[in-house]
Amino acid sequence: MEKVATRDPYLVDAGRGIPGVSSRAENADMDHLDRKRRSKNMRAIRSKDTKPEFAVRKLIHGMGYRYRLHRKDLPGKPDLVFPSKEKAIFVHGCFWHYHGCKRGRMPKSKLGYWKPKLEGNRERDKNHIKEVKALGWETLVIWECETRDVKFLMQKISAFLDGKQ
Ligand SMILES: [Zn+2]
Repeated sequence: MEKVATRDPYLVDAGRGIPGVSSRAENADMDHLDRKRRSKNMRAIRSKDTKPEFAVRKLIHGMGYRYRLHRKDLPGKPDLVFPSKEKAIFVHGCFWHYHGCKRGRMPKSKLGYWKPKLEGNRERDKNHIKEVKALGWETLVIWECETRDVKFLMQKISAFLDGKQ
């Protein structure tokens, strides 16, 4: 019997009913925007971008792993941190982190604004991962679009957390 629903229940539930909670990484992104644009973007993007992180947290917690959130002493403040394993997970929204998938494409308008912005985000992510690894930690990036396939995601997570590095 297939217990995993086709429509991902984590995505549906995860972002709801948690007013005012948002990803700190995304807020840091927002610091560079002017206020007006900022509030517009927050309305448009916040609910979408916080969803994957909650979905992943909920899933990993349900799998029995315990973690810490947004550890500030690690570069890029990974979303979930497993100190005893020295492993860190970044959950990236496809748009802001410019995944290149269907949901993470370059907008067609205001290219002069978005191109340096999104490419800069991607570059910064790369550097953060490099820096975390340099400290001796293992890292995993979970993309928003991957959270739709719960079965795949669980395999990816347990391979990362239980795998011998
Ligand atoms: Zn994606």
